[in-house]
Amino acid sequence: MAAAFQGVPIGFQLGIDLGGSKLAIAIADADGGLIAHQTRPSQLSGDPEADVLAIAAEAADLIARSDLAARDFDAAGFSVPGPVDHERGALLAPPNLPGWENVPLRERMSELLGFPVRLENDANAAALAEWRFGAGRGARNLVYLTMSTGVGAGLILDGRLYRGHRGRASEFGHSCVEWEGERCACGQRGCLEAYLGGAAWTRRLREIAPATSRVCALAGARELVSPKHVVAAAGEGDAFACAEMARFNHYLARAIAALAFALAPEVVVLGTIATAAGEALCLEPVRALVEAQVWPTLREEMRILPIGLGDKLPYYAGVCVAREDVTS
Ligand SMILES: [Zn+2]
Repeated sequence: MAAAFQGVPIGFQLGIDLGGSKLAIAIADADGGLIAHQTRPSQLSGDPEADVLAIAAEAADLIARSDLAARDFDAAGFSVPGPVDHERGALLAPPNLPGWENVPLRERMSELLGFPVRLENDANAAALAEWRFGAGRGARNLVYLTMSTGVGAGLILDGRLYRGHRGRASEFGHSCVEWEGERCACGQRGCLEAYLGGAAWTRRLREIAPATSRVCALAGARELVSPKHVVAAAGEGDAFACAEMARFNHYLARAIAALAFALAPEVVVLGTIATAAGEALCLEPVRALVEAQVWPTLREEMRILPIGLGDKLPYYAGVCVAREDVTS
């Protein structure tokens, strides 16, 4: 098996983004243009070998339908929802993929596809995608924050993906923002994820949303409420929803302020809930809160933006992992 290319891509790249709910597969040409893509519910069996075989077969099918063959590809990029052991090319203890602990994904997928595979956690992959093709094009320092089920962070520092010691740098969602605060899924208290993560927020909403609020009316019942109903109800001016959005924005601004002082990014790209909530409900209030908390020297050239790739982000996430030679 040839090693993955070094430097500039010359052939095609395959991108695979495995999320907790969706599997996205895409093919890009040497310039990064998407020439084919597809998405389906991930529907994992819990048996990683069976699931990897199914994913590889789907990728092979997309390659064949695009009139391409394995020899046309430089590399595949596999974006996965959990921490990665880069030395072994393995996915470590993904919180949303039970049974996938320590799966040697890179080697197995490479055997099945017939060309080299690169593996990256999803927040890093999305940071690469937004940096190369989305809202952060041209920046040398970028922070990507996502708030889907959990909270992930991807860092581009001095013009390259920053992984930290043993690739463990993307766990900013578990830094403590409230000592003795809310319990987090990781077992600690007061993590950022316990305030901004979709799963934690959903749990809270189902406990405290007033039965008479617009949030419950939109959801149909309190036990069905999720952050998207808060976004919709806040847009209509519902008092409970507006208070919940204000709380979310407050914690998001705390996170951005801490990152601004530590890393001085030029661009902070906010995915998922923040992008869905949009300018008036989230981005503008967050910018104002950050402005009050961060020195002008750090914030005046720091842009806080929604994602630029929209629903194409998962495709570019996989493709950008394939395109990026992080180790050189
Ligand atoms: Zn935590």
